[in-house]
Amino acid sequence: MNDAGTDGRHADAVAADETVVEPPDEFRESAAVADDDDVYDAFERDWPDAWGRAADLLDWERDPDTVLDDSNPPFYQWFPDGRLNAATNCVDRHLDERRNQLAIRWFGKRGERRSYTYADLHREVNAAAAGLRELGVEEGDVVTLYLPMIPELPVTMLACARIGAPHNVVFAGLSADALATRIDAADSAYLVTCDGYYRREDAFNQKSRADNARLQADGSLEATVVVDRLGDALDVPLGEDEHDYGTLLAPHDGETVEPVARDATDLLFVMYTSGTTGRPKGVEHATGGYLAHVAWTTRNVLDVRPTDTYWCAADIGWITGHSYGVYGPLALGTTTVLYEGSPDYPDRDRVWDLIERNAVSVFYTSPTAIRSFMKWGAEYPEAHDLSSIRLLGTVGESITPKAWHWYREHVGGGDAPVVDTWWQTETGAIALATLPGVSDMKPGKVGPPLPGIDARVVDRDGDPVEAGEAGYLTIDRPWPGMCRGLREGDERYRREYWAETTEGWRYRTGDGATVDEDGYVTILGRVDDVINVRARRFNTAELESAIVAADGVTEAAVVGDDSGGVIAYVTTRGDVDPDPILRESIERRVANAVGEVARPDRVVFTPELPKTRSGKIMRRLLEDIARGEEFGDVSALRNPEVVGEIESTVREEE
Ligand code: ATP
Ligand code: MG
Repeated sequence: MNDAGTDGRHADAVAADETVVEPPDEFRESAAVADDDDVYDAFERDWPDAWGRAADLLDWERDPDTVLDDSNPPFYQWFPDGRLNAATNCVDRHLDERRNQLAIRWFGKRGERRSYTYADLHREVNAAAAGLRELGVEEGDVVTLYLPMIPELPVTMLACARIGAPHNVVFAGLSADALATRIDAADSAYLVTCDGYYRREDAFNQKSRADNARLQADGSLEATVVVDRLGDALDVPLGEDEHDYGTLLAPHDGETVEPVARDATDLLFVMYTSGTTGRPKGVEHATGGYLAHVAWTTRNVLDVRPTDTYWCAADIGWITGHSYGVYGPLALGTTTVLYEGSPDYPDRDRVWDLIERNAVSVFYTSPTAIRSFMKWGAEYPEAHDLSSIRLLGTVGESITPKAWHWYREHVGGGDAPVVDTWWQTETGAIALATLPGVSDMKPGKVGPPLPGIDARVVDRDGDPVEAGEAGYLTIDRPWPGMCRGLREGDERYRREYWAETTEGWRYRTGDGATVDEDGYVTILGRVDDVINVRARRFNTAELESAIVAADGVTEAAVVGDDSGGVIAYVTTRGDVDPDPILRESIERRVANAVGEVARPDRVVFTPELPKTRSGKIMRRLLEDIARGEEFGDVSALRNPEVVGEIESTVREEE
């Protein structure tokens, strides 16, 4: 892909670390998928029917006879004649065997704790379902949830699923504007929010933000439910059509609401993308294929089983929290940890403290979190007993070999498998990853496509690239977790993601990648994140990987400036002074690893990089600064204040 990427020699620099790490024997022997299962062959031989194995992990009201209906591409229908209820699968079916086992362990910001057994969860989900019905919510009505990480969030998601009302979770940190847009886009007449939540020491008024959204929204909202998170700390009067959650549920305590059997293709939820590359897209997920794929990967990629205490640290306001914080673990009947606070409050060991306290065995987080942990230092995890950890997962961005090894060494006791998982809001569930009981790991490389996923790296003409050459990551055949479309309409969905080839329809992920001789894929970054340096094209990930290899560097983002040069924005560990020696070392590393031509023209040290609310570096903003241009859509930004700081640093140095 001469136009959108780099040549093979440069691309290889990303995975400068060529180590191959084998999963420990002990892990291999007990893993959910083992070598002799021949799972790759089985999917190859028997596609798409082999995906029936994923459907078999669920309880169906009516078993599907058809695995895939591909008569109207790219609008594929998985298990189209099956009927099921997602909440029954996540709650009711576990009652016989696990009624008294913990389903959710919640830790609040102020050290509060609440635990739900499966029986408790069943009771509250039913009461919430009855409460929503009382307000008039019917099958097919979209309910918007604007809640922080409190148990009422998964409870109301499951209550919606129980009565066949699709949920539309909006990340609690988003603005009134963003909430209003999402209420309108989803045609949602119902909102569940809360009085407020703690931000560090202060009580923050979430309800007033919801009120503002209500004023801005087109006026379709009929009823609002307000969870009392803060008690007396915040006095939030309720208006007409506003209901206190506890009061609404109380008369329904102990009631059972008959779960509504849904077609597998019926809408389970709407979820917006992170907005890293532009305006967020409203992704629609169907019930059957989504839940099957999520359950299958939670079991076979994250190796989660009912006996585990599992923690996915992602916020439920993003897809990772939906698939692997709520639906996956609960579908499998495991105990899932839900944490409201931040990783550095009250101290920087909070995450390790929670892992120790709960004897967490499987932990799933993002490279951005791991980079913070590294920045804070290994003394924090080292002060805790993390020996319960059996497997570590990562998702969201490329993980550098340096961060991969740090994670395994300091969190995984030096031998836990680290599974790098690639997927998107649109794919619904993990699409590329090593199977931890089967495949070796290669730090920095995400791994091969999962069995049954036909991912390829192709050039501009759509032909597979040679090993080591950069190309576009695409997926040729449909997969069960795929979304059924976009809120923005079918035409937009087709245009944004799909291409018709001579062999059929092809899904374009928007990511650049290379693939090695063993079929392991390295993600190079967004196709949009390719930069032009002195008339040569590079992907940002390869330069950044070289930069963070420097001692004391924690994060880096490179962008092109308007004269064809490179600017590197770099953050360092707290105890490191960003001096000219470090600057020189960074420049030299890039020149050695990638080539003299890519040597950064400027290295700008900054305390933070601009990030989306889901924690991804927003390179397009840094590029706007480098070029002195106006900023594009910044609504997805978490730390807008750093943009001004970086801008003035850049201007001062000029
Ligand atoms: P938007 O689509 O609005 O620009 P986004 O793509 O960041 O936002 P998500 O769906 O949350 O929204 O993120 C999916 C993207 O995250 C992938 O396309 C990929 O670029 C990146 N990603 C996810 N997992 C990995 C991984 N393991 N390695 C590298 N990149 C990853
Ligand atoms: Mg995307």
